Amino acid sequence: MKSDMSSRHRGDLAGKLLHLRAPARIVISVSEEAACSGAGQHLTWMLVNLLARQSDEVQEMVLRIPPNVPVHPRLSPLLPEVGTLDESLGAGIARIAPGLLAPKDGARCTVGVRVGPGPIPEGDWRLSTTAAGWAGSVATAPTDRAPAGNNPVGAYVAACLCAGEVFKYVRGMADDAGHMAERLWLSAATLRTAPDEGPCLPVGEAPAAILVGVGAVGSAFLHTLYGIESVSSRLTLLDNDAAGVDVTNLNRYVLFALEHLGRPKASTAQHLFSPSHSWCLESFDTSWQQWMQRQPREAPPPRLVLSAVDKNVHRHAIQTSLPRLVLGASTDGMRAQVNLYDVLDGGPCLGCFAPAEREPADKEMLERLRALPESERRARAAQAGFHAEDIERFIAEPQKNCGVLSGEALRKFTGALEDKEWSVGFVSVLAGVLLAAEYLKLAIREETIVRALNSRDNLYRFQFLRPVAASNTTAQNPYDTSCTVCIGQSLRENVALVWPTREQWPKDF
Ligand SMILES: [Zn+2]
Repeated sequence: MKSDMSSRHRGDLAGKLLHLRAPARIVISVSEEAACSGAGQHLTWMLVNLLARQSDEVQEMVLRIPPNVPVHPRLSPLLPEVGTLDESLGAGIARIAPGLLAPKDGARCTVGVRVGPGPIPEGDWRLSTTAAGWAGSVATAPTDRAPAGNNPVGAYVAACLCAGEVFKYVRGMADDAGHMAERLWLSAATLRTAPDEGPCLPVGEAPAAILVGVGAVGSAFLHTLYGIESVSSRLTLLDNDAAGVDVTNLNRYVLFALEHLGRPKASTAQHLFSPSHSWCLESFDTSWQQWMQRQPREAPPPRLVLSAVDKNVHRHAIQTSLPRLVLGASTDGMRAQVNLYDVLDGGPCLGCFAPAEREPADKEMLERLRALPESERRARAAQAGFHAEDIERFIAEPQKNCGVLSGEALRKFTGALEDKEWSVGFVSVLAGVLLAAEYLKLAIREETIVRALNSRDNLYRFQFLRPVAASNTTAQNPYDTSCTVCIGQSLRENVALVWPTREQWPKDF
């Protein structure tokens, strides 16, 4: 299989997606009000950031941005902080998809997108998008609402919804697989499909937290916080992916660009935040398990963990370390999900309905590697930052050269394409943005705030294929009566021993 930026979303998702209208030309015009507002700039940047990563679907992008509008500082670590908005966006796109703005022949369709009020550009499919506070929208008719304020949360929600509709139109869906959105709002404040703007962004301290997993969801979480300077906190970033950022990651990793290929995820993300940023980050390119082993024996377990890992074995390891509260986000095909795990209130744990995966043995991986043509092995070696000769030596004499590739790195190298599940940028980014929203709500002290996720409603799902379905709502996720982590293992009793004051959440967080 061809290994490139679209590898991970190229498949048909069990027959739901087609290949009808790609490649497309996308024309994005931005209203004056949207271009001049922080939220409008956040929306426009995240929209082009996501669309530039749909390399199969989008072959050309045309930007119509009002001239001479200064770019807002701290929009993204991928954008220059001075200059005009159109220059800055152009520089950001060039770091992800060089040449995307150059005119090309051969587009099979044109999609017109208007950011903010005003006429939608001509096209085979036409969309408007806007944002208000914590809510974002996409519609097939023009909007009369201009993005206002500087909240990136609703702006990024809008960008995800709009990039999702572009993707659904350009790819095409099987008859019964889903439907397009006509007029859709989604609020990260209330987790309802409604234009609920939510409260002002919090000001002051957010609780210290450990972010585990700086992949697609984790990097979207961090990108959301990057644009928020009214809040500060200490965040510890952990990710142990030995091969670092690879090209198939880049369809979803909105914090990273081509120059980050091969770089470790956690420490690279930390370096993208300047030391003067309000978020104080530290990073470790290690797993949760390795990081916990280094903590002093007398130290209490971490109070708040943000789980953006994609393997259940890591979820189990986090949970058995007895954190007080876990917020988690994940994806499944075209569905984004965010969870609250409060085991002291009788809720599920991270291991519930999440059995540990069976990892293929190194021997099995070696056989798979041997079965590949040498040219494919060499291509993968170059991509993953290995010397091709080292890989060939390893295959010839694995015992003698076992230090070259083993464990996680070997699995990643051999199985990166075959084993990885289907995933696409706007779904991962929505999951990361909703995780950031739930985290930011912990910094809002007002008693009146509606906590959309709580001990009763501890789960929210949004299915992009069916954006107005009744199932896109908060729900109670029960605990799993056959869970190997929390049933019969005294997990709840041990958490209660470590964290004896139950009312600590949400008041004291
Ligand atoms: Zn459980």
